[in-house]
Amino acid sequence: MRLTLTLILVSIFLRVGASNKVLEIGLFWGEEPSEITVQTGEGSYSVLGNGKELIQLKGGTILRVNNVNGLLHIRTLSEDLGTYYSLEINRNVWGSSLKIQRTGHKSTHEFHDNFSIKPYRGKLRIINEVYIEHYVAGVVESEAGSREPKEYYKVQSVICRTYALNNRRRHEAEGFQLCDKVHCQVYHRRSLSNPDIVKGTQETIGIVIVDSDIDLVNAAFHSNCGGYTCNSEDVWSGKLEYLRARVDENCLEENHSYWRYATTKSKWFDYLSVKHGYPVYEEEAAQEALQYCPDERDHFLNENGARVPFKQIRYDLGLLSAYFTIDHVQDSIILEGHGYGHGVGLCQEGAMNMAKQGESYADILHYYYKNVHLVNLSVIDFFRAN
Ligand SMILES: [Zn+2]
Ligand SMILES: [Zn+2]
Repeated sequence: MRLTLTLILVSIFLRVGASNKVLEIGLFWGEEPSEITVQTGEGSYSVLGNGKELIQLKGGTILRVNNVNGLLHIRTLSEDLGTYYSLEINRNVWGSSLKIQRTGHKSTHEFHDNFSIKPYRGKLRIINEVYIEHYVAGVVESEAGSREPKEYYKVQSVICRTYALNNRRRHEAEGFQLCDKVHCQVYHRRSLSNPDIVKGTQETIGIVIVDSDIDLVNAAFHSNCGGYTCNSEDVWSGKLEYLRARVDENCLEENHSYWRYATTKSKWFDYLSVKHGYPVYEEEAAQEALQYCPDERDHFLNENGARVPFKQIRYDLGLLSAYFTIDHVQDSIILEGHGYGHGVGLCQEGAMNMAKQGESYADILHYYYKNVHLVNLSVIDFFRAN
């Protein structure tokens, strides 16, 4: 009986869990190249044209692929391998990686696992079929840099994994799951710069954030909240119970905790009246537009009157955040701001500081996301399958 139950659980995990393990990432999204060269970084690869093996790729062999009249023309330095409508480059051994260089670009981009290449509007559609933990490590490096403590990389790994799985239908119509740009999550290459990034990913392997319904959360994050995070509905339309405003003193001394913006009184009043119909001729409203210093994060200038959203002012003037005070000296207006980004969810610089002070990744995630659970993907699969 017990054996049967174990087998059922294992088969559920394998059936449902398998779909969580490989992601299809559209590389160079929006700037697809028409010609690339590839060679192995580590391990070796089999190259298949229209499903048939063409060549083994190892050592210093360089393969050139370009789009010629809607087909893929493939050659090595010494041999023309012909034209095909599809190309697969599959690893022979675990841990293999491939270096891709776009013609005309100096940098090479190295990625783990498998690749599929198809012609696309005169260019190349390159899809990296990558083991999720390899992808997560690459994203963490792009999003968090290489100088943070390992505990912070664990925080960012859980967030990036949750985000990836929650958004994996985003590019379905284009034939892959996520792009490699900020539109989804930035994924420049496999992680190579700091071994702690890969360790942070491995030590949280499979862990994601879910809400009380065991649904993956929207794991929003931003650079620096300036001392107060925001409710989701203050910035976006929907209210999410786990994205609640809170005081955060962990980020106040950090790089992005303070900014300054200066303009003239006439430009400021013109902007407010033309764009927002702000009653600059009414003394009380005019006074608030000249001097405004809230005790905590507010969301509207002239709360009981014109109600101009600070997030709109941020957008219009290109400010780093929607959290600032207003002051004036003669004809100059000075906005003094706190933080960088939308302010919803996890504050990266605050979380980095908490990690440096010895807080665990779980405590940091629970600090910024309210009443969430950290679970392994296999647990979600189990509940889904039942
Ligand atoms: Zn995208
Ligand atoms: Zn913060």
